[in-house]
Formats: sequence, C-alpha cells, structure tokens
Amino acid sequence: MFEMDKKQRNIAYFSMEIALESDIPTYSGGLGVLAGDTLRSAADLEIPLVAVTLCYDKGYFFQEVVQGRQIEREIQWEFSSEFVKMPNIIELDIQEKKFKVGAWMYTMSGITGGTIPIILLDTNIEGNEHWQKNFTHILYDATPFQRAVQEMILGMGGIKMLESLGFTNIQTHHMNEGHAAFGVFELLEKYKGDLEEVKRRCIFTTHTPVPAGHDHFSYELIKDIFRDRLPENYKELGGEYDLNMSLLALNGSRYCNGVAQKHGVVSRKMFPGYEIDAITNGVHNGFWINKYLKELFDERIPGWATDYKKLDDVWDFGNFELWETHLQAKLDLMDYEKSHSWVLLDERKLTIGFARRITEYKRPTLLFSDVERLGKICDKKVQFIFAGKSHPRDEQGKGYIKQISDMSDYLYDSYGIGVVFLGAYDMDLSHLLVGGVDVWLNNPRRYMEASGTSGMKASLNGVMNLSVLDGWWIEGYQRDPMAGWAIGCGPEDPKATQYPDSYDANDLYTKLEREIIPLYYNNRDGWTERMKHAIRLGTYFNTHRMVEEYAERAWKLKAQNRWKSLLKSEEEFS
Ligand SMILES: *Cc1c(COP(=O)(O)O)cnc(C)c1O
Repeated sequence: MFEMDKKQRNIAYFSMEIALESDIPTYSGGLGVLAGDTLRSAADLEIPLVAVTLCYDKGYFFQEVVQGRQIEREIQWEFSSEFVKMPNIIELDIQEKKFKVGAWMYTMSGITGGTIPIILLDTNIEGNEHWQKNFTHILYDATPFQRAVQEMILGMGGIKMLESLGFTNIQTHHMNEGHAAFGVFELLEKYKGDLEEVKRRCIFTTHTPVPAGHDHFSYELIKDIFRDRLPENYKELGGEYDLNMSLLALNGSRYCNGVAQKHGVVSRKMFPGYEIDAITNGVHNGFWINKYLKELFDERIPGWATDYKKLDDVWDFGNFELWETHLQAKLDLMDYEKSHSWVLLDERKLTIGFARRITEYKRPTLLFSDVERLGKICDKKVQFIFAGKSHPRDEQGKGYIKQISDMSDYLYDSYGIGVVFLGAYDMDLSHLLVGGVDVWLNNPRRYMEASGTSGMKASLNGVMNLSVLDGWWIEGYQRDPMAGWAIGCGPEDPKATQYPDSYDANDLYTKLEREIIPLYYNNRDGWTERMKHAIRLGTYFNTHRMVEEYAERAWKLKAQNRWKSLLKSEEEFS
C-alpha cells in the first residue's frame, strides 16, 4: 500500500469480529457479518477508512448437529496468500509483562475498484512466550482475563499498530461495539489526559439492548492488568463499581449511535443522560442477492448494486419470471438440504426459514407452542428449515436445538410435515437460506433484538418476513406492510412486553392459517406481487445507505469527498 493512500485514510474502524469471507472464521454472527458488509460498502463508496480486528487462527467453532446435539469442532484454517504478514511489531504492557503484537493485512475490494485495508492483530509471533501466543487464537471463548487482554490488543494495540504501519492521520476512531473501548485509555495517554481531545477523535456504535451483552470487568482484574498505567479518572469513565466497556466508550466519544430507531430509544433509556443517535443497519445488496436474481437485476437494472434506489424498478418485472427465478434459488437450497438431512423436503411446498443464534430471547421454539394445532394448520403443505449456532456455554440454547430436532421427528411421524435443522450455520448457508425459502420467521422477545439483519437479506431476495415488530422490522413493516407480516402487537402498545408467549404463538398460527398458506397456494400472482414489495425494502435497508449516514453524521466526511460524486454517476458500474 502506498504511503500517500495511508495518509489519506482518516477513519479507523475497530471491530472484534469481521466476516471477510464465509469460510474465514473471523466472525461468530451478526456483529461480524454487519462489520463485513459495512466494509464492503465502504470499499464500493471509496470511504477513506482502515479497519482493525484480531486474527483468530482457530476462529469461533465449526458446528455439527448430530441427533439434535450440537458438537463444537475446532477449526484450523490456513492463511491464504490474501493475508500479507506485516513486519511491524508493537508492544503492550500487561501486568508486568511485555506482549508483542504483530499484524496481517487483508485487502477488501469493492465492486467499483475501491479497497479497504483490514489489519488483523496477532500475538502468535516470535518473542512471545507460549501462553501469550494463544491470546488471539479463539473468538469469544475466554476467561475474563483473556477477554480483557483480547480487548486491550484490539483497542490499544490497534491504535499503536496503525501508527506503526504509517496510518498517521486518523481523525475518527470508530468503536464498533464496546470491545475496543480501551482505545480511550490509549488516546488519553497520547493526549496527556485531555478527555476533550480524545472525544473529538472517537465515536461509538452500540449493538445490544440486552444489559448482559455489554462487557464488564472487575476493577480488581483491571488494576492487576494495568498496574500503575490506569488513568486517574478511570471510575468516572468506566463506572463506579466495575468497568463497563460501553460506558467507557460512551464517555470517550463525540458521537454514539444504536443500530435501529427503536434500539436508539432503548439505548437512551439504558444510558440516561447520553446523546445516542440511531442509524438503522443494512446489508450489502450486491453480496446478499442470490445468483439468479443477480443475473436478472444485472440485465434489467444496470447499476442496481451501487445505486440502491434503482431497486424500485422491480415493479416492472413480470410475475412469472420473478417466480421462476425464485424457484431456482429454492431448488439450490433443496439440493443442499437433501445432501445434509434425512428429512425429505419438497420444493413445491411453502417453505419457512428460521436461522439465527439459538438462544432464549430469540424464542426458537415458539413455533411449537401448540404442536397439534401447528400440525393441523400445516397439514403436509408447509415445511420448515432451522439453522443457527448456540454459544458453546449456552446449555439452554443447545437444549432448544434438541427440542427442534424432537419436534421434527414428531411432526414428520404424526402429520407428514418436514422440519429440518441444518448444522454448520455460516455465511454460505445463510446465503442459501435467505435466497431460497419463501418466508423468513423471526420471533424474538420484544426489544431485545437491536436490529437483526438476516430478515433484510431475505427481503432483498423476495422472501417475505413473518416477524415480531422489533429491531429493523418495526421500520420495515412501517415502510411497507405488504412486504411481509407482523406477529402480535406493535410498539405502540404499552403492554407489548407483558403478554405471555402464547399470545404471539396464537397470532403466528392465525396468520399462517388465514393469510399465508391461502395466498401461497391459491393466489401465486398475489404472492409474487408481494415479493416485489419485499425486494423494494432493499432500496433502504442496505449498507450503502447506512454508510452514507455514518459518513455524514458520525464520521463527518466532507461533501466534496469522492463517495458523494461516485454515488451520482450511475452508469459507470453495472
Ligand atoms: C446475517 C447473519 C447473521 C445475523 O442475523 P440476525 O438476523 O441478526 O440474527 C448471523 N449469522 C450469519 C452467518 C449471518 O449471515
């Protein structure tokens, strides 16, 4: 990379996980996929940004599901030639030890020729003791000490490494989630304790409305790690009783945001007194479209992948061609399913998909609340595909996988209904699912979903959402109620969080029975028309629009930057 280019990059984006490619295990789920899509759009829009993450040589884990049991297999992946080892090494003081941190560089290329350098920090280098080399092995399965050190490597090590590599003109440090907040300490040292100088250079995006989702460390641990290197006002910055990484990030930033409008409201309640804006998430349209629809769009709507408003032209498509295109993607999914499961699915049947982290608040078994009623409603006409990982230590989550598998046996034997749980959820499987099912189901407990992005991917592919009004779907459904269905009450209901689960389950069954199944089987034209409504949501819920909002409100890029003019030239990239 040329020195000139390094000096022009004035935004540094820090994220504990970034989904570069499906089979590179530097991500565990939504946060990493969003970071990847953000950088893909930033590359397309030629945003002057450099990203920092850790280099997990063992990644998260490979998931196998055998008779309803999740088995976690260790991953060992090979660094391809796309990863360039940098000669630079920086040092961090941790306890009484020096930690050496090295770096790899991966270049993400956009469809327009723009690129984003991604720095992956690595402690598995010459000169570190054996135990130190392990610190960047694995994503998210660590003791509080290991985790705190990983976060120091990301936040503090990241800033030092950028400087060492020649990125010396960073104006904005973007902390994507609180994991990088130790960077605030690093900058405080650099600016001799002047918090205002630090705040001018930092922004923070929070991603979870669930209090347990925010990292906390005991001050005992933090003092042991930092020794006499903690800033004097650490309690004012990080909290009175323990160190809350989100609070540290909030206190060290000039700008903070949540990731959907409702999430902004929830975050402002969770952190009273802080100004927290909201920028609704998106997905990278060019990355998430299935290959058949992509062909159709490329031919009929040149430039659609960068000029996202053009997706409006989907109105002009014929119903038959759209349905045929969808069917091709559905057949791909069925082919995959047949080689990975014993349950026989049928591409002619209405197929409902559910794929996300399997954990309590997502209510992965809500669908089975009244299994006899479900059986009668679906009556050999509807089939279901589930996928998703549970955190290795989430025993309750793994219990849900078992329950889904048991329900699959029961519904098949008693009602002839296919329910499949596919293992090894990753971006490749996600592509197949969001491109190939007919309806995308999401039923979290209300206001615990910050945004959710898999529903946006589905919608872009003409797959209707059937979802609780939470996260992005509050906005999606409001923009166009024909793009899918809402389960249960809306956010205007003051008792929305208080109804029993059976209330949502009942509404889910009713919508299936009275609206969705009849529409699919008796009015295919009506169905296909609604697919267009779903696709049209892609004119808004995409990372190009999202990155533009960050550029204007968070990164404060000036309008004369190239990304603005690039957006205007439409014909250039088709
Ligand atoms: C999109 C995606 C997610 C995030 O989906 P949610 O709707 O936020 O649950 C998680 N994992 C993978 C592999 C994805 O592709």
